[in-house]
Amino acid sequence: MKTSKPLLILLLIWSTMPFSYGQTNYRHLEIQKIADGVYAAIHRNGGHGICNAGIIDLGDATVVFDCMMTPAAALELQQAAKELTGREAKYVVNSHYHNDHIRGNQVFSNATIISTSKTAELIKLRGPEELASDKRDAGERLQGWKSNPVSQDPHTEKERIGMIGYYEALSSSVKDIVITTPKATFKGSMSLHGTVRSVELIDMGEGHTQSDAVLWLPNEKILFAGDLLFVETQPWMLDGDPENWLRILERISDMQPETIIPGHGPVASTAAIDPLRTYIRTVMDAAAQVAVGNNEKLKCPPPYDRWMLSVFYFPNVMGMAERNGKSGKGK
Ligand SMILES: [Zn+2]
Repeated sequence: MKTSKPLLILLLIWSTMPFSYGQTNYRHLEIQKIADGVYAAIHRNGGHGICNAGIIDLGDATVVFDCMMTPAAALELQQAAKELTGREAKYVVNSHYHNDHIRGNQVFSNATIISTSKTAELIKLRGPEELASDKRDAGERLQGWKSNPVSQDPHTEKERIGMIGYYEALSSSVKDIVITTPKATFKGSMSLHGTVRSVELIDMGEGHTQSDAVLWLPNEKILFAGDLLFVETQPWMLDGDPENWLRILERISDMQPETIIPGHGPVASTAAIDPLRTYIRTVMDAAAQVAVGNNEKLKCPPPYDRWMLSVFYFPNVMGMAERNGKSGKGK
């Protein structure tokens, strides 16, 4: 192919220009700039990322916070890290052990994967058994969701597309997943220092799971909250301690973050804390009722019936009720 000289010069100039965010259209994630060198990677509904993630430029090193559920999504995250910061991730933080936050780990083979000691323990303990169960069930559950008819109701349709995306992600990736455990662990907190900024990793204790860590930028007041914050999305409540989760939300509020990147849902502020707090209390109240034989509260009330992952309401209430029954609460 013959290329004219002016076009060649233009192409040369273009090829040396740095990529800016938003230049690449990713299938599984959408990049949002939060501040200079700080980006949120937001899961695209129907894509295979499932959780939100973060990319933070420390100046001489790049941190990725949570790495999504599939190697395909994690590859996009790594690509975005390179485009936005000019280098691969040096550190990858796993906020907690859930599959949608850790199954991209294997893509970051040159990075040091960091989590709390408890989270590393849970990945080792639960990772292989969850993978085995996904290998057994994901295909069938995908077919189940696919057999649901297209809905005329926009919210129901958005949920259907999201659930199909989730089970497609699971069933297409399970054969390639190698459970990859963190190589560096901490208790309490640790800092990562760079030439431009430092970030703090803080173990907030038992909330959404038995150990949930956040990434905090104290100067910019930006918090990557992992699954301690869900926005317009129902959280899974059965792997942690909901009462302590409420205390953790108080602590997050006291930190006065200006921007919070939740584990699921759109980028938010502290205004998103109260709706989640109310949801957790609603589930706890409903569970107390169910534990004494009153099943009226089993139906998901508004506004939560219009949140994403509304399928979680029933198991959350039933699971909490069972727990109350065992502990003698609600009697
Ligand atoms: Zn989670």
